Amino acid sequence: MPPNTERTAKRTSNDMTEVLAVLRQRFGDRLDASPGICRQHANTLTWHAAQAPDAVVFAASTQDVVDLVGIAQRFHVPIIPFGAGTSLEGHVNAPLGGISLDLSRMDNVLRISTDDLDCTVEAGLPRGRLNSYLRDTGLFFSVDPGAEEATLGGMAATRASGTTTVRYGTMGDNVLGLKAVLADGSVIETSSRARKSAAGYDLTHLLIGSEGTLGIITELTLRLHGVPEQVIAAVAGFPTLESACRATMTAIAMGLGLARIELLDPMTIKAVNQHAGLSLDPVPTLFLEFHGTAAAAREQAEIFAEIAREEGASNFKSAADESESRKLWKARHDALWAAREAWPGRDALVTDVCVPVSRLAECIAETEKDIAATGLVAPIVGHVGDGNFHAIVMYNKEDASEQEAILAFSKRLAERAIAMEGTCTGEHGIGQGKTAYLRAERAGAVDAMAAIKKALDPSGILNPGKIFQT
Ligand SMILES: Cc1cc2nc3c(=O)[nH]c(=O)nc-3n(C[C@H](O)[C@H](O)[C@H](O)COP(=O)(O)OP(=O)(O)OC[C@H]3O[C@@H](n4cnc5c(N)ncnc54)[C@H](O)[C@@H]3O)c2cc1C
Repeated sequence: MPPNTERTAKRTSNDMTEVLAVLRQRFGDRLDASPGICRQHANTLTWHAAQAPDAVVFAASTQDVVDLVGIAQRFHVPIIPFGAGTSLEGHVNAPLGGISLDLSRMDNVLRISTDDLDCTVEAGLPRGRLNSYLRDTGLFFSVDPGAEEATLGGMAATRASGTTTVRYGTMGDNVLGLKAVLADGSVIETSSRARKSAAGYDLTHLLIGSEGTLGIITELTLRLHGVPEQVIAAVAGFPTLESACRATMTAIAMGLGLARIELLDPMTIKAVNQHAGLSLDPVPTLFLEFHGTAAAAREQAEIFAEIAREEGASNFKSAADESESRKLWKARHDALWAAREAWPGRDALVTDVCVPVSRLAECIAETEKDIAATGLVAPIVGHVGDGNFHAIVMYNKEDASEQEAILAFSKRLAERAIAMEGTCTGEHGIGQGKTAYLRAERAGAVDAMAAIKKALDPSGILNPGKIFQT
């Protein structure tokens, strides 16, 4: 049985009138029930139909969150935590109505320690702003999902990763501790600032990836990294996607310290050329970055160039300077917007499978064949150093048969990855879109997850309808 959601029935507008009056008394003009604001807080970026909440509360402190949870418990109303709304699987939709809890006003950096290489921030801080803040410290925060406005709280809640994960890890590796409000209104801190601890259950990692269903994160203590002495960005064009994947696998197996290795297929290259004013050859291409001392970074780049040549790469080219390098990485981060621009009027379904790196070439080759056989338009990009790739399926929302075809493709892709000992989601999470695949991937474990949900949120007020099938 799905946990809890059956008990959190959709409110009628009469019920909500009383709830809104109590919320208005506590939050004043930080409560907004206007249709426009509610619509903005439903999923607007994805293929999922938007399901708007009844109202939005803009929190300014942990105490605000505690008080909102108390009111939600009293009236049995869902709370849907909201960072920047950039998640891609219907995570911030409100299928049962309720209150969207917008944390974007909790955006302060609370402390930085250059000695301990860590910092504590409020959950609504966008990841791009944290790195601007750190600019003069010689430190940086490494996790960089394509959406610069994604908040640290949202990133922890989805266990996000990005282009540097191959070297610096995911949110799971870079969050040291959390402050969170649980469904009973209690406030917990999940760990000390010590770099390691064996003190009891690891609640930090229980909350990371819980998508707002177990608690509301209000503060995070994050691991920071020193800015490397030398950064070399490069691109390498390959004859086939498989040869690019094999070069990746060889470099990973050698333990070459790549900081970034991202794959873009020819369709994506054409789209980013147009979007970002680049002039790359429209062939399967790896975007790379090497970090270290000047000598170490140069040596890694030379070794990779040799690996690439052995796989038939014709044009390994380093970026001339920092501005060219920044342009390349911006183009990579903007791949989704570039695809939308290249196929105007179409919507995008962004898939997100991840397989062991040794199976990557095979998984991409089978996916390419599937795309060709079904005639879909689906450029491929990927964090290939982690075995993670996205087919960005461009489709016409008004065409029911096309919708059916893309969902069937997405299902085959998830099943293919699971059959290769991989996962249906490397980084985007389950949300509403992948609940069936979660069951297919982790059958026995889903019941244990549901038991945890029931223990921590017995009345099911926290983000109902996500992770578990309803
Ligand atoms: C162009 C583009 C590129 C992207 N690239 C990547 C990528 O490279 N890697 C990647 O991992 N993702 C990527 N994403 C997806 C998205 O950016 C991430 O999922 C991101 O982590 C979401 O952050 P957010 O602040 O927007 O969270 P939201 O979308 O607001 O929320 C996401 C989930 O977290 C919950 N939540 C939010 N804040 C909190 C909180 N404080 N406490 C508890 N729960 C909370 C919400 O309820 C929801 O379930 C991309 C998206 C876009 C649009």
